[in-house]
Amino acid sequence: MFNLILFGPPGSGKGTQSEKLIEKFGWIHLSTGDLLRKEIANETQLGLEAKAFMDKGQLVPDEVVIGMIGSALDANPTAKGFLFDGFPRTTAQAEALDALLTSKGSEITLVLALEVSEEELVARLLNRGKTSSRPDDRNEDVIRKRLLEYDQKTAIVAHHYAKFDKVAKVKGEGSIDEIFQSLREQIEARQPA
Ligand code: ADP
Repeated sequence: MFNLILFGPPGSGKGTQSEKLIEKFGWIHLSTGDLLRKEIANETQLGLEAKAFMDKGQLVPDEVVIGMIGSALDANPTAKGFLFDGFPRTTAQAEALDALLTSKGSEITLVLALEVSEEELVARLLNRGKTSSRPDDRNEDVIRKRLLEYDQKTAIVAHHYAKFDKVAKVKGEGSIDEIFQSLREQIEARQPA
């Protein structure tokens, strides 16, 4: 199995690149943001609880997202790999993910970290807010809060995987195709096509 974490701050292009990567490599795409938005759309209890955090730009509690990922892994027993997008976002989530994968005889293969300047991130998110239905992209204070959460809680997740020499940095500015090529090269260096 090839298990990839696509890592990076809000607005770094994880969603866009994930779509291209799963099409190319045939992995299962697990985006906690998408899973949470589905729960909200279906008006579930979990969705209702998560929405309060998301609308403020705060992280949803660890146990909620860990539970969602555990179910998604169980639901796809024959997957040839998973692409984790927007997860793990805290060290506790990373440790839980490692344990879940270990229990399935697997592990994280690679973490690709997209690097984009803060100025560019805010511009991209505000721009996305003009057309998207996501309330968290429409308000600059919420965007700044999400970036702060990333700096304070998520950035350190890369250190967790760097200890195991699993992290590669990729420039997240440039054209979508250029960035995709850089990601692809890193993946193929670890898994010959
Ligand atoms: P972005 O990366 O642009 O912020 P996401 O769709 O990944 O967008 O996440 C949107 C929101 O969903 C986050 O601000 C957070 O509230 C919640 N969320 C998503 N993934 C997680 C996670 N792994 N842990 C906690 N909260 C999460």
